[in-house]
Amino acid sequence: MHGSVAPKQPKIKPRRTRRYRKKQRSTSIYFLLWAIFSALSLLIVLIFGVSQQLLMEQSYKTEASQEIAEKGEKIRGHIKNRPPDSFGGNESGYIHIMEMEYDVRIFILSEDGRRILPQEPNVDMTDPDIQEYFDFTEETAELKKQLTKSTADFAVFEGDGEYVYGCEIALYEDSTWYLYVGKSLSLMETAIARMNVRMVLIAVFVLVLAFAMSSAVSGWLAKPISEMTEKARRLAQGDFEVDFHGADYNKEMVELAETLNFAREELSKTDRMQKELIANVSHDFKTPLTMIKAYASMIIEISGDNPEKRNKHAQVIVDEADRLASLVGDVLDLSKIRSGVTPLEMKAFDMSAYLYEILDRFAYLKETQGYQFITDIDDGLYTRADELKIGQVLYNLIGNAVNYTGEDKTVFVSLKKQTDGQFRFSVRDTGKGIKPEEMSEIWDRYYRSSEAHKRPVQGTGLGLSIVKTILQRHNLQFGVESEQGKGSTFYAVFPIEQ
Ligand code: ADP
Repeated sequence: MHGSVAPKQPKIKPRRTRRYRKKQRSTSIYFLLWAIFSALSLLIVLIFGVSQQLLMEQSYKTEASQEIAEKGEKIRGHIKNRPPDSFGGNESGYIHIMEMEYDVRIFILSEDGRRILPQEPNVDMTDPDIQEYFDFTEETAELKKQLTKSTADFAVFEGDGEYVYGCEIALYEDSTWYLYVGKSLSLMETAIARMNVRMVLIAVFVLVLAFAMSSAVSGWLAKPISEMTEKARRLAQGDFEVDFHGADYNKEMVELAETLNFAREELSKTDRMQKELIANVSHDFKTPLTMIKAYASMIIEISGDNPEKRNKHAQVIVDEADRLASLVGDVLDLSKIRSGVTPLEMKAFDMSAYLYEILDRFAYLKETQGYQFITDIDDGLYTRADELKIGQVLYNLIGNAVNYTGEDKTVFVSLKKQTDGQFRFSVRDTGKGIKPEEMSEIWDRYYRSSEAHKRPVQGTGLGLSIVKTILQRHNLQFGVESEQGKGSTFYAVFPIEQ
């Protein structure tokens, strides 16, 4: 099996932990929806009401003017077609009958605005109040004005609170009088007032309906959100069993649920690995500590007087203390690099020379344990990076190759210039390789393969995570290629600095 896998990039950027704020000032979705629903419905009711009122008024006026015109013409016809002597002296009675029949008020007015008919018997015409009642000067003037404007021989117009029909009429041959027929507008006003009351009732009903609907809809929308919030709170408290599922009808919520489930997976993985690390690290701490204690006791009790033995035992103590120190160093490094406390110190340096320097650190393995390092290094390759951190990357990768290489104890290290203005560092071993399913996991913090290895270089399961973090912070391309049973090649590509 052969494959090349770049390390998994975190899909969610970790944020600085911010305290969960319980009391938020933002408005609840319930209220928001209710406000929007109510405002919309009220607006609709208002637009509807106003347009209805305008329409109704308009149509009522058109109808009223048609009606008054018809009635007026009929009344004129009745009066005209009667010979003057046929009234039998009771013209007023005749007019009153027509008033009742047509539901209007009818007057015959003189040119100067006096009311000629109907006459009211038994009234004192000297009484100023009554005189006023008989005074139609204004109405007559208006009527005359409208008649001159009208193209027909009658006029229809809106008078004071009524619709008016007017025309000239010659009741007795020698007179120029006017027929005035009025129909009150009060009916329309009552109708509009009644409609307004109805509109108010409808508005109240609509508000109640909006409230009910918004409660239903917001419940429908907000419930899954509240549920997810509750679950997220449980997740924050370390419950990795929670399962988020958004309402199926909403794409965004389904996505949110998926993202939260992904976050839960990542969190639970980190949590699990962290626990494993504590177990591993405490185990790894314990071994050198036990050794240190044992050898120190030995020096006190046995080898104190024998310089040769004492030195040998003291050396074990020093070595074990070094192991401990490097372990503690790794744990610290990772947390520092991760949290970004130490900024990168970018500068140009000779990577070829630096690689030789690092390889020198492994020289003791050549001498004491027969490891061979086969190198293919182009000279004078410069790059711009944080030298110390890149040194850590190279050291970790070569250390891993030493740890995991095969029986031949061979490690291949190369630094080769490419044609694209970059150079590639790679380190290959001849070990068992990495299982395809582990290829992406090995870069995770605390991950250590299930298999036990004889390890000449101390490891904590943090090495590759440090490598990944440093290279990512430099924005460099890197990865691993591995063939099972044949070995693995770890690589990183650097830009050439002229
Ligand atoms: P450590 O080596 O301390 O366990 P690392 O983070 O360096 O931790 O590596 C993580 C895991 O990746 C190792 O436990 C091992 O399973 C795997 N690994 C790393 N380098 C190699 C390699 N060259 N060959 C095979 N497996 C490797």
